[in-house]
Amino acid sequence: MNVELIAITHYLRGNGTPEELLEHAGRVCYRSESRGDPGKFLRARIREGHESIIEHASATFEISGISRAASHQLVRHRLASYSQESQRFVEMSDPEWVVPPAVTADPEAAVVWKEFTGHVVSAYRALRELGVRKEDARFVLPNATATRIVVTMNFRELLHVFRLRISPAAQWEIRDVCVRMLELVYPLAPNVFGDLREGLREQYPAFFEGQSAA
Ligand SMILES: Cc1cc2nc3c(=O)[nH]c(=O)nc-3n(C[C@H](O)[C@H](O)[C@H](O)COP(=O)(O)OP(=O)(O)OC[C@H]3O[C@@H](n4cnc5c(N)ncnc54)[C@H](O)[C@@H]3O)c2cc1C
Repeated sequence: MNVELIAITHYLRGNGTPEELLEHAGRVCYRSESRGDPGKFLRARIREGHESIIEHASATFEISGISRAASHQLVRHRLASYSQESQRFVEMSDPEWVVPPAVTADPEAAVVWKEFTGHVVSAYRALRELGVRKEDARFVLPNATATRIVVTMNFRELLHVFRLRISPAAQWEIRDVCVRMLELVYPLAPNVFGDLREGLREQYPAFFEGQSAA
């Protein structure tokens, strides 16, 4: 799996940081002036629940090598924009698979897996050779098929998604995606994501192991 931060809001004033823009939006509410450090102001607003101000900045991620199972969980989040590789138009006769660690760890399960994915590839190729269009041949592809997706979310929605998906209740793969997204966006907006990140790292340190700590 690869997760890359490919864009983030650029404020056209000051130093151009997204946090300056968010502070400005918040200051408009109170007709108050910035004191040069948006951090204290932003943290206070988020802690009191005045989260609409953080909707003014957004981030775009490119995620590749995740399963269709995980991408389906991701796209359930509605306050976002998505562009996903199309199985209608892309030839899938040589697909990549996302193999759950539970399968990799069990030699018998790994044999079942290999046999099944072999059948899938044979069936897809046979259908294509019979003239079945890609959009119909794809019906044999399972949740394990790897995909690629570009996602844009504003910071408020990102906080919401991180709260839901970096939790033991979420599945390992989307959790891994979200931990990576958080670790990428946090250094660029530490006052928006800092409290949440601190809490999650404290509660679930294992989820962050192996991730790039900022
Ligand atoms: C652990 C876990 C298990 C899950 N299991 C299942 C499952 O078995 N089956 C299943 O179908 N889904 C399941 N889901 C998906 C879940 O129900 C949500 O669809 C998904 O997490 C998207 O989150 P969301 O609805 O909070 O918000 P988003 O779409 O991210 O929206 C953000 C927020 O905006 C508000 N909002 C958005 N749209 C509306 C609306 N139409 N009306 C009112 N408020 C709105 C809500 O406050 C919402 O929290 C699961 C999710 C998790 C985290």
